[in-house]
Amino acid sequence: MARLLVVEDDQTIGQVLQASLQQHGHDVRWQRTGRDALRDAAGNTFDLALIDLGLPDLDGTEVCRRFREIQPACVLVIVTARAEEMDVVVGLEAGADDYLTKPVRLAELHARIRAHLRRESSANEDAELVEIGQLRIDPAARRVTVADHELSLRAKEFDLMLRLAREPGVAVRRETLMADVWDAQWFGSTKTLDVHVAAIRRKLTEAAGAGQVPEIATIRGHGYRLEPPAAPASG
Ligand code: CA
Repeated sequence: MARLLVVEDDQTIGQVLQASLQQHGHDVRWQRTGRDALRDAAGNTFDLALIDLGLPDLDGTEVCRRFREIQPACVLVIVTARAEEMDVVVGLEAGADDYLTKPVRLAELHARIRAHLRRESSANEDAELVEIGQLRIDPAARRVTVADHELSLRAKEFDLMLRLAREPGVAVRRETLMADVWDAQWFGSTKTLDVHVAAIRRKLTEAAGAGQVPEIATIRGHGYRLEPPAAPASG
């Protein structure tokens, strides 16, 4: 769960942003002024902050500049009603990583946040080996093996496999899988997901001769869950 800070003085916009981000599984704090935001940043670590440029007390670019000094690793996204290119440039120079213009389209907001957070986490965690039963996933090499048998997975099949394998035994929502693997807000059919799951299942079945493999269980009306293989019976 990512820790997000919303800095926005407009009550309605702030509420919409906070609620929508929480619905997407983020831990969200909301501050209405630049000073409160900086105070919050001094006491809490955030993964990403959305900063309105038009704040009542401090200029948003000034908030960015100071925020950047307090938390160098936090992703800063400025939100501006001022469409002037100059404001955006000043904001980016003040330390912001990205910007959005008002009115903020939520689908775009979530897509951007996801892209930013993914970039952050891929730098830290993505190389970690995942082992479930005799299935072994090497994210750095993008290889999946069962004993000495290598599964030949296509790019998105690999990403989906890895996503499920990072939380074995956990039911993962379809929307979450679409968002994490396809990096897009998915409004239409999620047929793509089912097709990829079917392909992975087929390849897991083929590999089952080589050793114990997990299964992908369908959770009706919800999503999928990677089931670790049962522990071998003793004796
Ligand atoms: Ca404002």
